[in-house]
Amino acid sequence: MFSKILIANRGEIAIRIIRACREMGVSTVAVFSEADRESLHVNLADESYCIGGALSKDSYLNMDAVLSVAKATKSEAIHPGYGFLSENPGFAKLCAQNGIVFIGPEAAVIEKMGDKDKARRTMQKAGVPVIPGSGLLKDAQHAAAEAQRIGYPLLIKARSGGGGRGIRLVKSPGELESNFDQAVAEAAASFGDGAVYMEKYLHPVKHIEMQLLADNYGNIVCLGERDCSTQRNNQKLIEESPAAIIPDDTRNKMIETSVKAGAAAGYTGVGTIEYIYDEAGDFYFIEMNTRLQVEHPVTEMVTLIDIVKWQIRTAAGMKLDFAQEEIDFKGHAIECRINAEDPYSGFKPAGGTIEMLHVPNGPWVRFDSAIYQGYTIPPYYDSMIGKLIVYAKTRDEAIRKMKAALCELIIEGVTHNASYQAEALSSEKFIDSTYTTEDRYFG
Ligand code: ADP
Ligand code: ADP
Ligand code: MG
Repeated sequence: MFSKILIANRGEIAIRIIRACREMGVSTVAVFSEADRESLHVNLADESYCIGGALSKDSYLNMDAVLSVAKATKSEAIHPGYGFLSENPGFAKLCAQNGIVFIGPEAAVIEKMGDKDKARRTMQKAGVPVIPGSGLLKDAQHAAAEAQRIGYPLLIKARSGGGGRGIRLVKSPGELESNFDQAVAEAAASFGDGAVYMEKYLHPVKHIEMQLLADNYGNIVCLGERDCSTQRNNQKLIEESPAAIIPDDTRNKMIETSVKAGAAAGYTGVGTIEYIYDEAGDFYFIEMNTRLQVEHPVTEMVTLIDIVKWQIRTAAGMKLDFAQEEIDFKGHAIECRINAEDPYSGFKPAGGTIEMLHVPNGPWVRFDSAIYQGYTIPPYYDSMIGKLIVYAKTRDEAIRKMKAALCELIIEGVTHNASYQAEALSSEKFIDSTYTTEDRYFG
C-alpha cells in the first residue's frame, strides 16, 4: 500500500478520498487554490499546499504545480477525483514519467475511452451495442450528409465533452448548420478541442450506467447498475441502485457486456460504462467515464464495497479478493445531489455564506459534503455542495427515508435545490420508476 497520496481535487470528493486514506493508514496531501483557503479538505488532510489562483486553470488544472507538490512531499500516488485532471491522459503520462502512480487507468486507456468518438469505435469492435451515429464531423456539409443517414432528431456532441456540457439537440435539417457551427465553437472554448460527432437522439429513455472495478492482473468485476435518469441539462440530479424496472436477464446481460467492454479496453481501476436504455428494453453504449463517479456511493451502499478504497488498492497493485459471484447486492440506495442553485429560476448557480447548517442523520443516512457553518461558497467551481445518500431494504422505504432526510436538511444563507429534489421524489413517475431523462419536476 502507498504511504502517502496527494489528492488533486477539492470539495466533497477530496474529503471522501481523505477519509478512505485515513482508514487505510495512508497519509494525505491536499492542494488548494487561493479561493479555497478556508475549504474543509485543506484542514482535513495531513498536509496542505496552495498551488495557485482561484481559476481552475491556475490551480487544480495546473499539472506542473500539482506534480511539484507531489514530488516535494514525496507522495507516491495522485488521486485526481472527478472532473479537473481525472480524465487527462497527458497528466497520467506526466505522473508515470515522474515515478508517481496516477490513480486511474493507464494513459493509453484514458486516451482511448476518454475520447468519446474513439470509445464508440472501440466498443463497436468489442461487440457492445452503440447508439447509431457518426465519426468526427469535418464541416457543416459533412454533418448534413451524416444527419440524413442517421435521421432526426439527433445530438451533436463534443468529443472531449463532459459534465453534460457540449451537447446540442438538432430537431430538423433547418437547425443543423447553425447548431453545428455553435457546437464547434463551444467545444473549442469549453474543452480546448472543437471536434464534434453526432448521435441519434433516442427518447424517452433512461440513463443506466454500470460500475466496473478491475485490478492489474486481468480480474474485472461489475458492481451492478445505477439509474441516473433524473437530470436537467444532461446533468444528473438523482441516482439510485438498483434500477427498479430492469428485468434480471437484461441486468445480467448488461453486467456481462460491461465486463467484456472493460476487458476489451484493457481497463484497470474504477470506471463506469454509461448506456441509454430505451422503452423496448434495449441498451446502447454512450460513453465511458475513466474515473471515480460522483454517484459511486449508491453502489457502495448496495454492495458494501468501498469503491474508493478498492480504487486505491488496485492502483497500488493489490489483487481483487472477491469474484463477480461473491458480490452480494442487497437493498436499495438513492442519492440526491445538493446543488447551490435556484431550481425555480432556471437552476442559476447561487453563492453566499452558510449561516446555519443542520445535516440530516439517523440510520442509513449519509451526507458526503465539504460544507460547514460559516463557509462561503466560492463562485469558481461546480455548484454541487453535497450528496445526500440513503439506504433501505426496499425502494419505497428508501424514497420515504430520502424525503424525510431532505426535510431535515437545513442550509441557511444559500439557495439550494433540496425542495426540488423532494418534489421529484414525490412525482408519480419517480415512484413507479418510469421516469426518463426528459421528465422535469416543477411544483
Ligand atoms: P458523473 O457521471 O460522475 O456524475 P458528471 O458528468 O456529473 O460525472 O461530472 C462530474 C464532475 O466533473 C462535474 O463536476 C463536472 O462538472 C465535471 N466534469 C466532467 N467532465 C468534464 C469535462 N470534460 N470538462 C469539465 N468538467 C467536467
Ligand atoms: P457527458 O460526457 O457530458 O456526461 P453523455 O454522452 O454521457 O455526456 O450524455 C449526457 C446525457 O445526455 C445522458 O445521460 C443522457 O441523458 C443524454 N444523452 C446523451 N446521448 C444521448 C442520446 N444519444 N440520446 C438521448 N439522450 C442522450
Ligand atoms: Mg456522461
